[in-house]
Amino acid sequence: MKHNQSIDFVSIVIPVYNEEASLPELIKRTVAAADSMDKDYELILIDDGSRDKSAELIEAAASEKDSHVVGVILNRNYGQHSAIMAGFEHVRGDLIVTLDADLQNPPEEIPNLVAKAEEGYDSVGTVRKNRQDSRLRRYPSKLINKLVKRSTGVEMNDYGCMLRAYRRHVVNAMLECHERSTFIPILANGFARNTVEIDVMHAERAAGDSKYSFMSLINLMFDLLTSMTTAPLRMLSLVGGGIAALGLMLAVVLMGLRLIYGAEWGVDGVFPLFSVLFIFIGAQFVGLGLLGEYIGRIYSDVRARPRYYVQDILVGAATKKARELDESKQ
Ligand code: UDP
Ligand code: MG
Repeated sequence: MKHNQSIDFVSIVIPVYNEEASLPELIKRTVAAADSMDKDYELILIDDGSRDKSAELIEAAASEKDSHVVGVILNRNYGQHSAIMAGFEHVRGDLIVTLDADLQNPPEEIPNLVAKAEEGYDSVGTVRKNRQDSRLRRYPSKLINKLVKRSTGVEMNDYGCMLRAYRRHVVNAMLECHERSTFIPILANGFARNTVEIDVMHAERAAGDSKYSFMSLINLMFDLLTSMTTAPLRMLSLVGGGIAALGLMLAVVLMGLRLIYGAEWGVDGVFPLFSVLFIFIGAQFVGLGLLGEYIGRIYSDVRARPRYYVQDILVGAATKKARELDESKQ
């Protein structure tokens, strides 16, 4: 089948931000891994405005004789996912593999990813077999994985690992998405028909520090959340409705008590106040939630993601002939 075509050319996309310490080994190991497959390949290194020698190292690697390296140098730091997108603009491969530059994702896994994709998958994710991150990083990401699973319905156990492979049509579809904040693995899921996950090794960061500060991690989490769902906005109305209903119930109970037991029940004191308060607070939340619904719709229009993405068009021989005739007449 054509839309499950074989993979002849692999593009490896790696964002680089201040990674001069790991770059030489990264390039060496990635090239070795790619050479071990009998496929054509290119190694796209995106310098995300590094302040160290990364850009020079990439330039040197690209200017070597018979180099498979393509250097994309950004003028300043735009963040990991934007850098990967910048790399996607230049891919030529049938399959695109992304990984991190810090050697936490062993390049030796690339042939395994390619082999799995060749079985007919559009997107190959990975699960870190022996995750080498601190607990502070592990627990939040576990929670996120659960949330993602629930709200997208797509079964992916490990979103944090960037060692992934996508078919070209998935990448092309992602390039049609013009939102500023993206989380690539999740975005890709929206455009992949057959997805699969494989286990990969995960190493400790070989050199340097994580390029994510606490604040940028929080930012990333919100990017992830907002890129996949506007459900939290809807929660506002639901919570508000709940609170208002509680207030009403309290009012009914108080009235009932008063009817049964007479005047000393429920009129004075704070309880009636509570019930009125609850109803109003609830109503406010519902109002906010309504605003949220509009904002959610505005957001999805502003993002202007493609409504659909056509992977292939198959035209029967007779129709083809008729169309060619039409064209020749014009
Ligand atoms: N990175 C980037 N731009 C940034 C931050 C990170 O291109 O602003 C790259 C970085 O060089 C690495 C990858 O993104 O290749 C993942 O970064 P890091 O290892 O710091 O993230 P962590 O593993 O801590 O999640
Ligand atoms: Mg890392």
